[in-house]
Amino acid sequence: MDLVKKILDHYEKIWVLAKANAVLEWDSETYMPKGETKERGFITSKIESMIQDLMTDKEFIKWVEQLEEKAENDFEKGIARVLKRSIYYYTKIPKKELEEYNKLIVEAVRVWEDAKKKSDFNRFAPYLEKIVEFKRKFAEYLGYKYSPYDALLDRYEEGYTVKDIDPLFNRLKRDLKKEYERIKEIWHDYHWLENEPYNRERMELLNKTVLSMIGFDFNHMRLDVSAHPFTIELGLYDIRITTWYHKKDFRRSLLAVIHEFGHALYERQIDEKLWKTPLQGGVSLGIHESQSRFWEIVVAKTKEFTQFLEPLVKNILKIDADSEDLFKYFTIVRPIPIRVESDDVTYNFHIILRYEIERDLIEGKIDVRDIPEIWNEKMEQYLGIKPKNDSEGALQDIHWSLGAIGYFPTYTLGNLIAAQIKYNFPDLETHIENKNFATIREYLREKIHKYGSMYEPKVLLEKSFGEPVNEKYFIKLLRERYR
Ligand SMILES: [Zn+2]
Repeated sequence: MDLVKKILDHYEKIWVLAKANAVLEWDSETYMPKGETKERGFITSKIESMIQDLMTDKEFIKWVEQLEEKAENDFEKGIARVLKRSIYYYTKIPKKELEEYNKLIVEAVRVWEDAKKKSDFNRFAPYLEKIVEFKRKFAEYLGYKYSPYDALLDRYEEGYTVKDIDPLFNRLKRDLKKEYERIKEIWHDYHWLENEPYNRERMELLNKTVLSMIGFDFNHMRLDVSAHPFTIELGLYDIRITTWYHKKDFRRSLLAVIHEFGHALYERQIDEKLWKTPLQGGVSLGIHESQSRFWEIVVAKTKEFTQFLEPLVKNILKIDADSEDLFKYFTIVRPIPIRVESDDVTYNFHIILRYEIERDLIEGKIDVRDIPEIWNEKMEQYLGIKPKNDSEGALQDIHWSLGAIGYFPTYTLGNLIAAQIKYNFPDLETHIENKNFATIREYLREKIHKYGSMYEPKVLLEKSFGEPVNEKYFIKLLRERYR
């Protein structure tokens, strides 16, 4: 039997289990009764281990190795590359250690929640120390080029190392600081719409109206509500997004919807030929985030888009704001300690700070106990502010308690790539002005979406835009927007 067919037949079982697990995950974030704490976690972790068993099947591994040698085209090479990465992770790290680590994570998340509530970093520190210890061991098992951090970063952003991120972030830090100092002098840090209450039903209608106008496919997509907005792909033909509602400050709900739309569109526009193969799915977190940020920052925060929104906000939401108000409201610049509520200018400082800390932790240059102090110093240095306590400082994000070290840089990569796409796209503003969102969707399909995971991120960027990720476009965007 044909080698690729054998591999895809076996992979189909993995795909089915993964999609079933995704439905369960979506359900537990949206509609599952609150009292259910016993069964769901058990079921999903069992399915996860069934996937792991199928992935590490000896015969299957042999086929993948054969394909790696014999692959003739980009499709086959992509399949071998993506499968090898999963197999590698499951086989290089001893099963027992992975199980111990998973148990630690469940506890660490609980302790982190408690520590955050009490704003007590020392309560969480012993757990983070253990997590860092595991991660450093895993890095040794997985292997790396320059820094053990590379092995962790590669899980989220294939092919990137500290040798890519260090110079990129250092240049960004330097130029962003200059931009920030300039913008802060001329720009507003508050807008009355932040305190404007809204009606929940009208807000839902506004979200759905905007979505359908920019091309959300309600026949294959859904919008629901959850504690934090997210996108989940249950298949090529069923993609779900969520948002949140806060009674006032409607941009939080609307921009979340537009952000998640970008993620959903990526998954929806993947070539049907990749369906049920390991290449169906966005290639990395950074590329995924570039798609959500493209719609959220690049498209939605233009004057052309706020002109498009004005009648909808007036007629549906019944809030009397004109497009100039909306533009100013969407582009407030105000340094605050909390990353997720930060504006587009200061946001990347939050990421750079986290990257520098987690890289130094993994490289053994700093100790977990020193984090709060280093955190506050960097905050002061980058943004001139000081968190009141650890819960709005080093304890604010869930990532480290989940063991997601190496994840943060992907947020900034996403921002930078989103701006890079904008300056490759001729007449973007005119298309927005003409409500010609189909052309924008088509462009993204051709340049990024249709390939799924066929090419690793660096290769995809070279192929579609002719250069690696470059911070100068993001800086240019800030220069042009905040005048
Ligand atoms: Zn996102």
